[in-house]
Amino acid sequence: MESNGKSNGQLDKAPCYSTLGRRAVASPSVIVIGAGFAGVAAARTLHDAAFKVTLLESRDRIGGRVHTDYSFGFPIDLGASWLHGVCKDNPLAPVIGRLGLPLYRTSEENSVLYDHDLESYALFDMEGNQVPQDLVTKVGETFEGILKETDLLRQESSEDMSIQRAITIVFERRPDLRLEGIEHKVLQWYLCRMEGWFAADADTISLKCWDQEELLPGGHGLMVRGYLPVINTLAKGLDIRLGHRVTKVVRLYNGVEVTVENGKTFLADAAVIAVPLGVLKSKRIEFEPRLPDWKSAAIDDLGVGIENKIVLHFEKVFWPNVEFLGVVAGTSYECSYFLNLHKATGHAVLVYMPAGQLARDVGKMSDEAAANFAFTQLKRILPNALAPIQYLVSHWGTDENSLGSYSYDTVGKPQDLYERLRVPVDNLFFAGEATSMEYAGSVHGAYSTGLMAAEDCKMRVLERYGELNLFQPVMGEDAPVSVPLLISRM
Ligand SMILES: Cc1cc2nc3c(=O)[nH]c(=O)nc-3n(C[C@H](O)[C@H](O)[C@H](O)COP(=O)(O)OP(=O)(O)OC[C@H]3O[C@@H](n4cnc5c(N)ncnc54)[C@H](O)[C@@H]3O)c2cc1C
Repeated sequence: MESNGKSNGQLDKAPCYSTLGRRAVASPSVIVIGAGFAGVAAARTLHDAAFKVTLLESRDRIGGRVHTDYSFGFPIDLGASWLHGVCKDNPLAPVIGRLGLPLYRTSEENSVLYDHDLESYALFDMEGNQVPQDLVTKVGETFEGILKETDLLRQESSEDMSIQRAITIVFERRPDLRLEGIEHKVLQWYLCRMEGWFAADADTISLKCWDQEELLPGGHGLMVRGYLPVINTLAKGLDIRLGHRVTKVVRLYNGVEVTVENGKTFLADAAVIAVPLGVLKSKRIEFEPRLPDWKSAAIDDLGVGIENKIVLHFEKVFWPNVEFLGVVAGTSYECSYFLNLHKATGHAVLVYMPAGQLARDVGKMSDEAAANFAFTQLKRILPNALAPIQYLVSHWGTDENSLGSYSYDTVGKPQDLYERLRVPVDNLFFAGEATSMEYAGSVHGAYSTGLMAAEDCKMRVLERYGELNLFQPVMGEDAPVSVPLLISRM
C-alpha cells in the first residue's frame, strides 16, 4: 500500500490476502489520517472487519487531544480528563468498565454549565478573602435567572447574537438582575466557567446554540488513571505510522492517494480523515480535487475554541479540601480556577485551566512563564502558597497538530455545520469531535464519529466490491459486555 514514486493514476496497492472462507480474497484497504480517538475507533472497526488499515499520525504518539503525561511519576491528562456522561449508554463505558479504570465523579448534575457541583467550590477575591458560600450559591441562582431571560430574548429574536450581548440586553431590561461589588465579581466567575465549557469568550458564543448540545446522563467523571489506557487498548494490533504528517489527499478513480511530509505516498480504496478541525481550517492538508464548497464552508464556519492546562505539582497540599479553587474578579477574563486533583487522585496537584482569550495569551508564553503566571494567580488567593516543584503546560492553540482545543458554535452560523463536516465526499470519510452532531467537543463524541465513519466506509467499499458479506470480522466483534463503571467521590 506504500509507494515512493508518483502514482500513474492507477491503484498501486500491495494486495493483502486473507484466507477467510473457502478462497483467498484481496482485502479492501483504507488509510486513516489522525490517531486520536476518532481515527483509532475508525481504524479498529475497519481492521476488525478485515480491511487493510494504515493509520497515519503526525505526532510521535497516539491519542491527539487525549494526552496522558507520566513525567511526575503518575498520570496527568493535559487534554481531556473527564468522561462526560458516566452511564452505561456512554459509548466508551464498555471499554472503560472492562479495563476496571476508576472514575471520580465531580458532578451528579447533567449540566452544560457546571461539570462540578457548586458546593465543591471555594471562591476567593484577589485579596485572598474567601467568598461566603451562601453568596456563591445566591449569585449562581441569579446567573441562572439571567440565562432564563436570555432564553426569552432568543425566542423573540430571529437574529442570533452572542451570549455576552444577550446578557447586556437582559441587564438593560431587568436592572434588578445587575449585581455590584463582590456579587458582580462572582457573576463574572460564573461567566468564566461557562467560557471554560466552550473554550471560548462569551462575546463569540452563540445565544441560539449554546445549550443545544445533547448530554448523556450520569454527570461528569474524572478519569483517575488518565485516558491513555483506553486509547492504547483500542489501538492494540493496528498498523500505526507515527511521525507521518499528511500534506496531500488526492481522490483517484476508485481510490485515494495520500502523501506525507517526506514525499512518501500511500494508496488505498478509501480514506478516513480524522484530523482536528483546526488543522482542516489551516489548509495544511491539500485536497485534490478541492473539497466541495459546502464542505469547505462548514470547515471555515464552525468555531474552534482554546482551553489550556497548567499543571502545578507541589510537595504537599496547603489548600482547602475542595474540588475547585476559584479567583473572582471584575471581568471574566481576569477570573480563573484551579482543579484540585488531590481530591480525585491523592496527588498534590492543582490544574489551572484558562479558556478563550486568556488561554490564547497564556499559550503564547514559554512553559516557565505560564507556570509562573498560574502560580501568581494562586498566590493572590492563597498568599502562603508554596512554590510548585514541577509543572506541565499545554499549548493546544499553537500546536500544529491540533490548532485549537475543541469546536463550538459561533454567532450566526448555520446549525448544520457538524453534519456537513461529517458527510463523506466520494471515498473520503470524515471523523473527529467536530463531526459529531450529538456530542461535539468530547472524547466519546470523537469515538462515536470514528465508528460511524468506519461503518459508512465499510458499506461504500464493500458495495463497490459487490459482495457485502464477503468479509467476516477476523478478530470477532466484541460482544457488548456490561461491566459496571467504578465511580467514587471523596
Ligand atoms: C484541554 C482540553 C480539555 C478537554 N477536556 C475534555 C474532557 O474533559 N472530556 C472530553 O470528553 N473531552 C475533552 N476535550 C475534548 C477532547 O479531547 C476531544 O474532543 C477529542 O479528544 C478529539 O478527538 P479527535 O480524534 O477528534 O481529535 P484528536 O484527538 O485531535 O486526533 C486527531 C489526530 O490527528 C493528528 N494529526 C493532525 N494533523 C495531522 C496530519 N496532517 N497528518 C496526520 N495526522 C495529523 C493529531 O496529531 C491527532 O493525533 C478536551 C480537549 C482539550 C484540548
